[in-house]
Amino acid sequence: MEFSLQNITRKNIQALQPYSSARDEFTGEASVFLDANENPFNAPWNRYPDPRQLALKTRLGKLKNITPDHIFFGNGSDEPIDLLFRAFCEPGTDNVVAISPTYGMYRVAADTNDIAYREVSLEEDFTLNACKLLAATDTSTKLIFLCSPNNPTGNALQSGEILRIIGEFKGLVVLDEAYIDFCPEKSLLSNLAQYPNLVILQTLSKAWGLAGIRLGMAFASPEIVAVLSKIKYPYNINLLTQEKALEMLGLARQKDEWVETILQQKELLKNELVRLPLVTLLYPSDANFILIKTIAAKKIYEALVERKIIVRDRSKVALCGEALRITVGTAAENGLLIQALKEIGKLPM
Ligand SMILES: *Cc1c(COP(=O)(O)O)cnc(C)c1O
Repeated sequence: MEFSLQNITRKNIQALQPYSSARDEFTGEASVFLDANENPFNAPWNRYPDPRQLALKTRLGKLKNITPDHIFFGNGSDEPIDLLFRAFCEPGTDNVVAISPTYGMYRVAADTNDIAYREVSLEEDFTLNACKLLAATDTSTKLIFLCSPNNPTGNALQSGEILRIIGEFKGLVVLDEAYIDFCPEKSLLSNLAQYPNLVILQTLSKAWGLAGIRLGMAFASPEIVAVLSKIKYPYNINLLTQEKALEMLGLARQKDEWVETILQQKELLKNELVRLPLVTLLYPSDANFILIKTIAAKKIYEALVERKIIVRDRSKVALCGEALRITVGTAAENGLLIQALKEIGKLPM
């Protein structure tokens, strides 16, 4: 059987009549707005934001070379992740399959929605085996979660294996590209039209330096975007976020400069880390962070905290024994980290 969006959309969602807001019912030009019970004072903050985020979608569409009907915006990536469960997974019955280790929000959203979460381990070197992943699916598997570059491992998954999964799986493949701006591999976005079952997640939280405004993006077929749009909160992207995002999308050169600086800093940081006796292995990174294997992750983590430096202890995560995840910071921040690690290296462990 071929992929069919209708087949995998929950019946209640298919039947749902979405809430129609005042700003949905009238969208043309007007000068007197007496339709939404807003306060007439305190412009522009008194007005509800555009529920369809058209200006923002048009701007982003130009940047990504895609039409606005392929774009869904959420309150962070968390929102599209949750909505995918609510739209396509029947609580108590369906399941999803995800790589392990990976980003923790997929499991949280599965648990919140009472959906069984099946983990398939990456190989020891964090590469993806499409066969193994597909073997874990059955007729009740609605979503597969892939993350490339993957968090917390930092590596990009092999595009050949990703494409094989998209081609063979009859549910939706969610490919989280939160770190794609830092990655030498190309985004799959330009191939979106070929894959009616692909949802690509990106975010303004990393390369764009906008984690505080909470803007996540899902790219998919207009049909998938329509389903997600139907069940989102009507005004899910607030006015402050829409305005700031519009401003920053006009500064893509700035983003590119930040990415270049961060990647240069990553090389310098790697060169320092590799020389430290505390560090036994640097995993390959295609992102803005480095996963390192250490001689004693918890002790090093705590010694860094005492020195007011916070990294992420990932040592309890599958395949990540004694591993710490380090975000690449400014030159000054990275210098402080290296200095602290040198000090810690002199302590008895
Ligand atoms: C940081 C990150 C995100 C971003 O989440 P937002 O809710 O958009 O801030 C998404 N996916 C992964 C794998 C991440 O590491």
